[in-house]
Amino acid sequence: MTTPTYIMLDGALVPFADATVHVTSGAFKFGTSVFEGIRGYWNEEQEQMHLFRMDDHFRRLEFSQRFMRFDGAVSGAEMARQTLELLRANELRATVHIMATAYVKGSGPPAACGPIGTSVVATPGVGGLHVENGCTVQISSWQRLPDPAMPARVKCNANYQNGRVAIIQAREDGYDTILMLNSRGKIAEGPGMCFFMIRDGMAVTPTTSSDILESITRETVMELLPRYCGIEVVEREVDRSELVAADEAFFCGTAWEVTPIASVDRLAVGEGGVGPVTRKLQEAYFRIVRGETPDFEEWRTGVY
Ligand code: PMP
Repeated sequence: MTTPTYIMLDGALVPFADATVHVTSGAFKFGTSVFEGIRGYWNEEQEQMHLFRMDDHFRRLEFSQRFMRFDGAVSGAEMARQTLELLRANELRATVHIMATAYVKGSGPPAACGPIGTSVVATPGVGGLHVENGCTVQISSWQRLPDPAMPARVKCNANYQNGRVAIIQAREDGYDTILMLNSRGKIAEGPGMCFFMIRDGMAVTPTTSSDILESITRETVMELLPRYCGIEVVEREVDRSELVAADEAFFCGTAWEVTPIASVDRLAVGEGGVGPVTRKLQEAYFRIVRGETPDFEEWRTGVY
């Protein structure tokens, strides 16, 4: 990853080295911050960067701020304005990962609700895990945060400690990543991505009441599967043992895009490679996000 020239801090462009937050802030002391990860796909032929579903991401940032009871929450429209200004100022002509944050910048106790600051960082490079033949997954012994404790649907930075402990364990055990169960013992999600399996000709994904983030890529994939792969999608509770019966499985998310799962707990999923539905879905997904098709134009915002 390369270092961008500017970062957007509290609505102003500042040089990378000057984009700092005070150690007394609620964000630093207690993790009182919420964020969005958004991708901008560079299309060389069109000399255009397409931001994928930016407005949906910033709507979710509004929801996260509302849940956190931030005083003077920053609007999605304002965050979109800042994001476009930043990308243009940095003259980025590459696929980027954007992290947009709203945080308590004032000092105060854990329940402090303001004042609120914002930042937007756009970094050229790739996120997720790039595996040709699928990733190896461990079912974590760590449980996904239950909604009555701290909701996974709120994209609060502090929530990411839950996935973090699980990933560290999985890496030490020799896996690429993890799938977490919720407190009811049902499949929830990965640390930065949602889960789908193909079973008996249907696509199955855990419901949004399974202690998952209400993922924008998950919604995207639910629209693409019937249209491009001829596969119906069911949202329901998913048991761990069903993975043994699945023909294919994959993760999806802004950074993870569509990433096949090769094995779970060292047992191959289906044939153990990249299944035909996952392959077809990946092709459709990449054409859409890169703006190589007029389909779903409403999901793309051109930067230039
Ligand atoms: N679950 C978690 C915990 C995540 O952090 C993410 C990444 N934002 C996802 C799922 C995928 O969500 P989205 O498709 O909106 O990026």
